[in-house]
Amino acid sequence: MCGIIGLTGYEDISAELINGLTVIQHRGQDAAGIVTLNGRFRMKKGPGHVSRVFRNYDPEAFRGKCGLGHVRYATMGSTLEVDAQPIAVNYPYGLAMVHNGNVINFQELRKRLYDDNMRLLDTSNDVALILYSFAAQLEKKDLKNLKVDDIFDVVSEVQDLVKGAYSALTIIANKGFLAFTDPYGIRPLVMGKKYTDQGTVYAFASETTVFDFLGYEMIRDLEPGEAVFIDNEMNIHSKILKKDKQAFCVFEYIYFAREDSVFHKRLVASERVKMGKKLAKTFKESGIDPDIIIDVPNSAYFFASGLAEEVNVPYRRGLAKNRFIGRSFITPTQKERENVVKQKLNPIKDIIKGRKVAVVDDSIVRGTTSRHIIHLLREYGAEKVFFVSASPPIKYPCIYGIDMSVRKEMVASHYKNYEDIARVIGADAVVYQKLEDLQELYHDLPICDACFSGNYPTGITKEILEHIESEKMNSDRA
Ligand code: AMP
Repeated sequence: MCGIIGLTGYEDISAELINGLTVIQHRGQDAAGIVTLNGRFRMKKGPGHVSRVFRNYDPEAFRGKCGLGHVRYATMGSTLEVDAQPIAVNYPYGLAMVHNGNVINFQELRKRLYDDNMRLLDTSNDVALILYSFAAQLEKKDLKNLKVDDIFDVVSEVQDLVKGAYSALTIIANKGFLAFTDPYGIRPLVMGKKYTDQGTVYAFASETTVFDFLGYEMIRDLEPGEAVFIDNEMNIHSKILKKDKQAFCVFEYIYFAREDSVFHKRLVASERVKMGKKLAKTFKESGIDPDIIIDVPNSAYFFASGLAEEVNVPYRRGLAKNRFIGRSFITPTQKERENVVKQKLNPIKDIIKGRKVAVVDDSIVRGTTSRHIIHLLREYGAEKVFFVSASPPIKYPCIYGIDMSVRKEMVASHYKNYEDIARVIGADAVVYQKLEDLQELYHDLPICDACFSGNYPTGITKEILEHIESEKMNSDRA
């Protein structure tokens, strides 16, 4: 998963790009970068957090009225600098691009680009595949008289060629600014604007929280398969080019996005409260009788408080969190993940001691976090520990950009019944959200729930799925 921002308008936007990236830092901590256009592309990118990459940044060197920003969380490819975004090419046009998502026909595209265009990719990052595919199609157009329809044609050809999930932002030097999404609208992309003394500035971002922070007004979400092109005179052109059945990633609501972001008119925090409340029935049916409900901070707060309200059990904050330690899941190896969980969470003794505790988290993937938390809670005197997952059992890998690990590492893929899962993570019982309950919440917004159901909206062959999993196991994150 990654976070992207694009700004285009009538004033210098470089500082806003960097500030905006800090607000979506949670979407990726492996690398960060920006590119601005001012006669030529000026790019800076590198490994680590935004604050680290831009520690000695000189605003004068990056002045520009159009720019892109990216925070990277390596799903595929490495955490090396060469794989950081943005990336740019100078032929056939000056093009710069960032994207969020994951390409699933990587091998096929790579081969095709080499066979047809003699392009050798020097990175394992899939944004290069999108950018080079875009460049290869653009080259076929009358470049001197490039029209908006030509650009839309190129996007549509890219959508035919590139399979998977992508929300992409592109600067076409001296022509304009382009945003486009895959035909299923799997990954989020929102559009906003701001009026300044010098004129309007348009913004695109992975999350609306960027707009709140930078003072932009939300315009709308991009539609599945849509392209929006803003020309140099700031005229907006938009077209849905290749729309399939919408499948917005439900994990954005569950875990990934910040609670103050809004997608498709739904506030993430409210979605989490709804999911918490929806858990109530299954929770009661399971027969567990906790004295208190606690959350795994921070993303589980809304689920836990929603559930507590519905089942009439007191909600308490039972775990203290060290806010200065990053997300454990985004650290590359299992050993590192375990260490980070240890440093990150500490039970609040008097709240836990002698109590039957139901602890709510957004999800259980490998079981590392839950196992450790349950162990800690018992150490601090909890009489019983029930583990509640606000999402249904995660059984299938995400092939669209969320690092979900592989089937053989997922507890719910390995163990078929909840008693076994409870035993493995050391809980007295586990309660999961039912998939049909989650789906009911989204009867009016088509979602991608492939990680729970195995129904991949783009379709997937057994061979490609196995290939993606083996790449993941062999990557530096396995
Ligand atoms: P695990 O410890 O492997 O069971 O993973 C579950 C924990 O990781 C939960 O506390 C989640 O909040 C968090 N989590 C789940 N999915 C992701 C993800 N794709 N990226 C980062 N963190 C995640």
